[in-house]
Amino acid sequence: MLKRQTMPGVLVLIVVLATSGGTGAQQPLPTVVVLATGGTIAGAAGSDVQAAYKSGQVGVDQLLAAVPQAKKVATLRGEQISNIGSQDMNDEVWLKLARRVNELAAMSDVAGIVITHGTDTIEETAYFLNLVVKSRKPVVLTAAMRPSTALSADGPLNFFNAVAVAANKDASERGVLVVVNDWIHGASSLTKTSTTAVQTFMSPVRGLIGTVAYGEVEFYRGGVGRNTVNSEFSLDGVTTLPRVDIIMAYENMDGALIDAAVAAGAKGLVIAGVGNGNMTEPAVNALAAQAKKGIISVRSSRVLTGRVGRNVELNDDELGFVASLEHNPQKARVLLRLALTKTTDLKQIQRYFDEY
Ligand code: ASP
Repeated sequence: MLKRQTMPGVLVLIVVLATSGGTGAQQPLPTVVVLATGGTIAGAAGSDVQAAYKSGQVGVDQLLAAVPQAKKVATLRGEQISNIGSQDMNDEVWLKLARRVNELAAMSDVAGIVITHGTDTIEETAYFLNLVVKSRKPVVLTAAMRPSTALSADGPLNFFNAVAVAANKDASERGVLVVVNDWIHGASSLTKTSTTAVQTFMSPVRGLIGTVAYGEVEFYRGGVGRNTVNSEFSLDGVTTLPRVDIIMAYENMDGALIDAAVAAGAKGLVIAGVGNGNMTEPAVNALAAQAKKGIISVRSSRVLTGRVGRNVELNDDELGFVASLEHNPQKARVLLRLALTKTTDLKQIQRYFDEY
């Protein structure tokens, strides 16, 4: 009788020990590699209440040392890719960064990657990586609006949260992510909306991928559009990216800047149009003339939210234009540059805008 009563207790104890790691064996922390590119998160000012500062002053080792809490979430390794304000982001850094992300993501001991970046162009870099990284592992960009020396700097918590997201298994297969101010954005959806506010990033059309509060991660949805392992784009054999310029539309616009961009070597043009990708008649005529000569011409919008649809007030079929759909001008430019590494076929390029 006694034996029959005690046996289940023993079994419960064994099950508890096996599931809780009660033998003393600790699960190793996932390894997250931090690639630092510069930005305000690595910026420094003369005092903690000074608006003037310089981006890209603090190195990756200092950045890691400033947030020791992150080492409780992941084993961290740091590499310096560049140390620039992201207003100076360029193809050389992009290609180096993307290639390194692909190398690291292929390593079995690397669970995720965090990239520290400036806020000015983070949406472009994130979207570029979203299209050319070939991995299901989390790739998470983060940034800060206040320099590291500021009173109430936002960088350390953003960095901690980014590491927590990159170390989280559920973060995989959602495309490249951007973590700033407790919010997890998808690379294709986010945009910078304030020049100075800490709460600058929004995903106005699609909303957030999730939230992260002091490392506690919650996901709402997956990535929008084809990305990473499902992307047709690759940097294999690519050493340069074609030139694509963005031209903003405005009252009384003529075709001078459109023609000047082509004369400067642009193979593609993105118009940040008024409203639903519109522009003055002289600008339409200049763009259509360039489109006839094979310059790929995309209509996007200078308006923050909404789609630019095909054949709405302008007949794209007749004029030979591509409609950007949900892509804002800066993302349309990234996609068109990669598209031009593969084709100049208008139908195929419109399909890219539809699918990515
Ligand atoms: N100009 C800075 C940069 O993009 C702004 C920032 O990081 O917030 O590098």
